[in-house]
Amino acid sequence: MSTTTARKIEHRIGGSATAGTSARTSPVWDPATGVQQAEVVLAEPADVDAAVAAASDAFEAWRDVSLTRRARVMFAFRELLAKHADELARVISSEHGKVVDDAKGEVIRGMEVVEYACGITSQLQGEYSDQVSTGVDALSFRQPLGVCVGITPFNFPIMVPMWMHPVAIATGNSFVLKPSERDPSVSNMVAELYAEAGLPDGVFNVVHGDRAAVDALLEHSDVAAVSFVGSTPIARYVHEKATAQRKRVQALGGAKNHAVVMSDVDVDFAATQLTAAGYGSAGQRCMAVSVATAVGDAADRLVERLEAKARDIKVGPGGDPGSDMGPVVTPEARERISGYIERGIAAGANAVVDGREADLPAGGFFVGPTLFDNVGQEMDIYTDEIFGPVLGILRVETLDEAIEAINRQSYANGASIFTASGQAARTFTREVETGMVGVNVAVPVPMAFYSFGGWKDSLFGDHHIHGPEGVRFYTRAKAVTTRWPDDGVDRVAHRGHMHFPTAV
Ligand code: NAD
Repeated sequence: MSTTTARKIEHRIGGSATAGTSARTSPVWDPATGVQQAEVVLAEPADVDAAVAAASDAFEAWRDVSLTRRARVMFAFRELLAKHADELARVISSEHGKVVDDAKGEVIRGMEVVEYACGITSQLQGEYSDQVSTGVDALSFRQPLGVCVGITPFNFPIMVPMWMHPVAIATGNSFVLKPSERDPSVSNMVAELYAEAGLPDGVFNVVHGDRAAVDALLEHSDVAAVSFVGSTPIARYVHEKATAQRKRVQALGGAKNHAVVMSDVDVDFAATQLTAAGYGSAGQRCMAVSVATAVGDAADRLVERLEAKARDIKVGPGGDPGSDMGPVVTPEARERISGYIERGIAAGANAVVDGREADLPAGGFFVGPTLFDNVGQEMDIYTDEIFGPVLGILRVETLDEAIEAINRQSYANGASIFTASGQAARTFTREVETGMVGVNVAVPVPMAFYSFGGWKDSLFGDHHIHGPEGVRFYTRAKAVTTRWPDDGVDRVAHRGHMHFPTAV
């Protein structure tokens, strides 16, 4: 690992780039070479104050901008994202490490949320009831909250923030994004594209930072709502701290996603899906499959196919078109993953493929795909979120046992089943305790017009993210009761009673 003189990545506050007040920075690596390529400034509370003040000022005007004009900004933003998709993907790949095609996939999935936000004119339609009492009508509609904050993880540096800000902004809020300090550049590019799309300065701001910035945002009295996505301990912390400040909070946490493989299935099809779901993006996806639960005699056939496919994966730099899988994000991540492999073997799991022994490029933060068979439910490779290219096989005898194993987990993001049986699929779908379920789909991430979210320790708060739940999260309801007496007589008051008004 070596360092060079670092380019500085700054905040975007009120439409301008600024280094802010802090002398602290964090390195941004090129994970494929192990070379530091930039440093990102880390905000102090004064920088957070400046961003929230810019967002607060901008909110006053933005909330009054017509729905049609807000939607048009989203249409323009969507076109710019499409135009710059390749460039955005290359920047993501260079800081995250994932292969460029995969990065392009996240740009597209994020863009789909913008497309949903283009239809905000429909999503925000209210309700109206004529003549709820004599001469009285009722209506309800939703209004924006104010300054909304997004705190996001490294693994999807454009898509996860786009689960949040297009919906928040289209519904009339202003936004402060605190992206991961590990791959910060693409958030600044997004700020520039919003400006080009016609979004007024201050409606979308980017503050880079670590815990100091997060705490300042959670404590700020002018922040109305916080959307967080990241690991479970930090999600729990953010939820507790921000709700104590009476903010609206949705905090999405970590995962340990299982895919159940029944013996009636085409095992080669299942293995192909599981290989992509387990090792894509080097396993650094919140919806990655990290456990394949093989039921009955599916196990031996599945292990054989998975081994062949894991050995076939070409590990290399994310920018190399020949690579199937890139490096992991930091040297610490590589060490953590290698430690889990070591402990899995020590605990008695069978390392069918050991990623540490793969033929890996020199210099970068590479770990090869690892496949464990005979994983025990007490092992930490089973209980913990490894967040790397490690897939474990859990062998069970029945579907009920497979479901029980999933439901014992505290993580509850997604789960999937591979089967030819509609009955097994129906039982699984109804009984499994996760927020998202796939049937012959390994990574059941809902489309942008549905909402995304887990249960239990995978989500703290009441709302899933984007889609209709996103619109509800970023707005609050107002119910209005109206009367326009045509003869100047208030009929209810005219009855001369002081009782609670009831319909007449
Ligand atoms: P992380 O929890 O380390 O960081 C997430 C955010 O929190 C970052 O912006 C980071 O700067 C900030 N942060 C980190 N430590 C903090 C602290 N002590 N106090 C306050 N803020 C802090 O997560 P990560 O490593 O960037 O991302 C990987 C994790 O995110 C995995 O656990 C993964 O499952 C999860 N994730 C979940 C989802 C989901 O939808 N549930 C989606 C993507 C990622």
